[in-house]
Amino acid sequence: MLPIAGEPIDGGVVGIRGDRIVSVGRRAADGPVEDLGDVALLPGLVNAHAHLELSHVRAPLGEPGIAFAEWIRRLVAAHRRGNMPGGEAAVAAGLAESLAGGVTRLGDIVQPDWTAGPYAKSPIRATLFLELIAPTFERIDAQRRAARAHLEAAPPLPFWQPGVSPHAPYSVHPALLEDAVRLAARRGAGVAMHLAESREELHFLATGEGPFRHLLMGWDQWDGSLGEPGRCPRDFLRALASAPRALVIHGNYLDSEDTAFLAERSDRMSVVYCPRTHGHFRHDPYPLERMLAQGVRVALGTDSRASSPDLSLLAELRHAVRRHPLVAPRTLVQMATLAGAEALGGVDPAGRIEPGRRADLVAVALDGPPGRDPFEAIVHGAGPIAAVWCGGARVDITRP
Ligand SMILES: [Zn+2]
Repeated sequence: MLPIAGEPIDGGVVGIRGDRIVSVGRRAADGPVEDLGDVALLPGLVNAHAHLELSHVRAPLGEPGIAFAEWIRRLVAAHRRGNMPGGEAAVAAGLAESLAGGVTRLGDIVQPDWTAGPYAKSPIRATLFLELIAPTFERIDAQRRAARAHLEAAPPLPFWQPGVSPHAPYSVHPALLEDAVRLAARRGAGVAMHLAESREELHFLATGEGPFRHLLMGWDQWDGSLGEPGRCPRDFLRALASAPRALVIHGNYLDSEDTAFLAERSDRMSVVYCPRTHGHFRHDPYPLERMLAQGVRVALGTDSRASSPDLSLLAELRHAVRRHPLVAPRTLVQMATLAGAEALGGVDPAGRIEPGRRADLVAVALDGPPGRDPFEAIVHGAGPIAAVWCGGARVDITRP
């Protein structure tokens, strides 16, 4: 058992009553004990960044190494052609796939027409960040109203909590970003923003020129609002720093002063690394080692099936360890659990196996030699998810 809250326990036993963990140790307090065999028992995995509406996409768009702006153009074109069957069915499929992959908490980006149905039916608890897009001045007002309505919607059930996602520096007017952060602060909600994702984005911020400008002009979404030169990711980090919780999605090209800024605010600012999406675009090496050394809180995400082959966080972990052999497997597992839970925050915190917590657990089959370090066995092994519990109930993870 890897409680994350403390040291691994060989032959550990978790006591569950109702939806809660009541004991953690080597022996059961009372009641029947189920022997799970040779597995690592972890807190449920946390996917801090997904777009479940794209869960019907069969394979990542474009060839590996595709230019990021070109990928966006293809994604939007596919949407407009109606080749992206999204909606409830895609979200439901994404939730089922996530659950089978051991994910029990999720940060999802949603559109204004999102519906609660699939989330209400899934035992996964989700933070639903409403995507805000306003590259022109005239679109700000409607987006601001949508953000307010989303944040003020009182969830009838505890299965979701609201957040907002001003999409990215090349799609959001600075005034809307400020409003979104202010509204989120009033509600105690999180803000997630794609930032420093591509070199084209840095070029756009610095000059107001390049592929993003062409993209916006081609969509008739250019009124000059976003064309001011001389900007950089730190301008956005400063704006996000006023949010109760900020999730910087990707951060592939953050420099060391940017990441030092995040490290100083790691109680409320996090970065979400999406390893296989990073690989799909063949970005420069991800600055994970530097971020961790500085004390940045780094969570893990899958991003969508339009840039990653599936929604498996375990596969993201196993990809990440190959890219970052100097990062301890234990740190990677902590990123996939506790760091993600803290990044998403909110009520009923997750990410640890300890008494009082919701019994969200995942068992990973161990396929290595006995006695191997369990963290290494998880990230270097190929063992599948063996079992998942949400709120104390074992979930059927056999796929339809
Ligand atoms: Zn994303």
